[in-house]
Amino acid sequence: MIVAIDGPAGAGKSTVARAVAQALGIGYLDTGAMYRALTLVALRTGVPTGDGPALAELAREHPVHLENGPAGVRVIIRGDDVTTAIREADVTGAVSEVAAHPDVRHEMVARQRQVMERGDWVCDGRDIGSVVFPGAEVKVFLTASVDERARRRHAELVARGEVVDLRAIRDDVERRDHADSSRAASPLVVADGATVVDTTGIGIDAVVARIAGMAREVTA
Ligand code: C5P
Repeated sequence: MIVAIDGPAGAGKSTVARAVAQALGIGYLDTGAMYRALTLVALRTGVPTGDGPALAELAREHPVHLENGPAGVRVIIRGDDVTTAIREADVTGAVSEVAAHPDVRHEMVARQRQVMERGDWVCDGRDIGSVVFPGAEVKVFLTASVDERARRRHAELVARGEVVDLRAIRDDVERRDHADSSRAASPLVVADGATVVDTTGIGIDAVVARIAGMAREVTA
């Protein structure tokens, strides 16, 4: 069984997806972490974020390993733990451009399908229900208002000890929404058959219970 959770930046996808996977006792694949990891490698090696073919080659040379552990998902590239580095502002600022290249998406989608070929998975991203697994048994489009998503992201960064301006975060959320929704290759859309879940003002636990319930209904 595949549970596909798509939606815009800051809707709570990774938190919800991880908790749903835990509740169901199945694997979790964070596809955003894969695009972020490639972006980090590009920034570190100087490969231009505008060069799709070179980025796809870079992805082939630097496969990303996601390891599910008690403290969450660890992101490893060539033995190097980049879990924290991929959440830094420079990566967040460049990832949408990297993810917009069809060559890059082709590479990533192939790898995602390969990982999820066997077993049951919860997978979150932008194109899981529309492109990666259109036949997913459960499809959710998770969203929340721009203000709420900016507030959550702000709280998350403050908890990590970062000094950040709420307004700047709101602008970044809007910028990424626009970039992800307007790109030509696999834009962010509500996939056919997806259930839209608006999490504005709703606690994580209730959202997790609802999605886990949808998955249990499918397997019952
Ligand atoms: O989910 P997260 O915010 O970590 O994703 C980072 C970026 O990666 C997104 O803003 C989007 O540009 C890209 N992405 C994508 N397709 C996915 C997952 C993420 O284009 N399946």
